[in-house]
Amino acid sequence: MKENQRTDRRDFLQHSILGAAGAGLTIASTTNVSIAAEPVESQKQAAAVEITNDVDVLVVGGGTAGTIAAIQAGRAGAKTLILERNSQLGGTTTTAGVSFPGLFDAWGKQIIAGIGWELVTDCVELDSGTLPNFAKVPQRHWQNQVRVNQFLYALLAEEKCEQAGVQVAYYEFPQAISKTATGWQVDCVGFGTQRRVLCKQIIDCTGGAEVVGMLGLPRLREEETQPGSMLFKLDQPNNPGRPNRAGSGLLDAIYVHGADSSNSRTVTAANMTGRRAVLNKVRKDKKRLMHLQPETGFRESYRIVGETMISVNDYTSGRLFDDAVSNAFYPVDIHTKTGVKPKPLKPGMVPTVPLRALIPKSSRNIMVAGRSVCSDRLANSGLRVQASCMGMGQAAGAAASLAAKNDTTPLEVPLADIHKLLESHDAIIPGKA
Ligand SMILES: Cc1cc2nc3c(=O)[nH]c(=O)nc-3n(C[C@H](O)[C@H](O)[C@H](O)COP(=O)(O)OP(=O)(O)OC[C@H]3O[C@@H](n4cnc5c(N)ncnc54)[C@H](O)[C@@H]3O)c2cc1C
Repeated sequence: MKENQRTDRRDFLQHSILGAAGAGLTIASTTNVSIAAEPVESQKQAAAVEITNDVDVLVVGGGTAGTIAAIQAGRAGAKTLILERNSQLGGTTTTAGVSFPGLFDAWGKQIIAGIGWELVTDCVELDSGTLPNFAKVPQRHWQNQVRVNQFLYALLAEEKCEQAGVQVAYYEFPQAISKTATGWQVDCVGFGTQRRVLCKQIIDCTGGAEVVGMLGLPRLREEETQPGSMLFKLDQPNNPGRPNRAGSGLLDAIYVHGADSSNSRTVTAANMTGRRAVLNKVRKDKKRLMHLQPETGFRESYRIVGETMISVNDYTSGRLFDDAVSNAFYPVDIHTKTGVKPKPLKPGMVPTVPLRALIPKSSRNIMVAGRSVCSDRLANSGLRVQASCMGMGQAAGAAASLAAKNDTTPLEVPLADIHKLLESHDAIIPGKA
């Protein structure tokens, strides 16, 4: 046994005995950290604490797109608040465990960069991983997805938000929204917290355009949506420290048919169905359950009706929209009861995302980013992937921060200003890559 292994074992036993023996638990190591104490006065209040925030940009949903939107807005100097109803940032990338974002490259070159790429590469570097070689066109599209450590990703996302001056509010979601002379009043709720947010701009990054729905603006949804998936690992530990080495660190998945992210009841049903299926598998296969994600991953829900819609023809032909703000790349990829048969794009095609597809039709001061982008179902099946969502998030963060600064609405911000801001934050502008 090597010396450091001996030390680890000693620490492990010591902590087990001292810290958790009574509870019958074992904890490998413990470090102390403290958070700044709140004034005693407010802690004594039994009722929910009422807070008011006056911000430029409110991002609702701290998932794949929302995290990047908030960091971009914060770095552009906008006072930014991000609300996330779960306990961490990253959304489907972290909470659902889809920790293999793609695709940042197409046909031998990088097409999406900027803040999402920075977060992904920092994560890979800190994890001593390796990045795919984008100069090489892979035989199968998924070979150039970047495998990240989902735990580190959540930590780095939070750190980057804090460094950008973004205020993070977990366990909270909007309950009521009304227009004000300068933007919006959004009343939010969390346990023990009632928060009134006055903001100039909202970016709805909830995945299902929930804020857009609350405002009564139209949304699109298929009668039958793609299945969700519950991710887990049997027999081998989930080894997030090695996800970049071929073949290791990947989780198993069970389709959850009918999974619907619309509300707490449908998400509860999806999670319980997914967990029941995992439990059945453990019993049937007689294997140990080593890892289970806390939430089902949802592939499809509502899309907005935007100022323009990306059709599958726009998508597969790589249409360069005149107001394109980010690139996208992935096969058309619809999962059904019998599985998925991705339809790769034709050589040279790189789809783009127009600003108007991020703006609900006839609205002011609200945008979306992520999988709820205005698109038909087939186009959406490709647009929904993580690198594309990150690109949209950065574009929405840039447009919203400029709109807030100039007291206007995102559609009226000159496109050249949005491109300039995006370029100064290392994003790749469509048509210029
Ligand atoms: C099983 C599965 C496999 C996939 N495979 C791939 C793949 O191989 N490669 C790839 O790149 N992509 C893949 N995708 C697609 C991709 O991961 C998602 O489409 C993408 O991450 C969606 O990003 P988003 O920002 O739109 O939403 P999300 O990342 O889901 O973020 C939405 C966030 O909003 C929060 N939220 C929702 N409502 C509220 C509210 N009312 N108030 C506050 N917060 C709220 C949620 O908690 C969540 O954190 C896969 C998806 C699934 C489910």
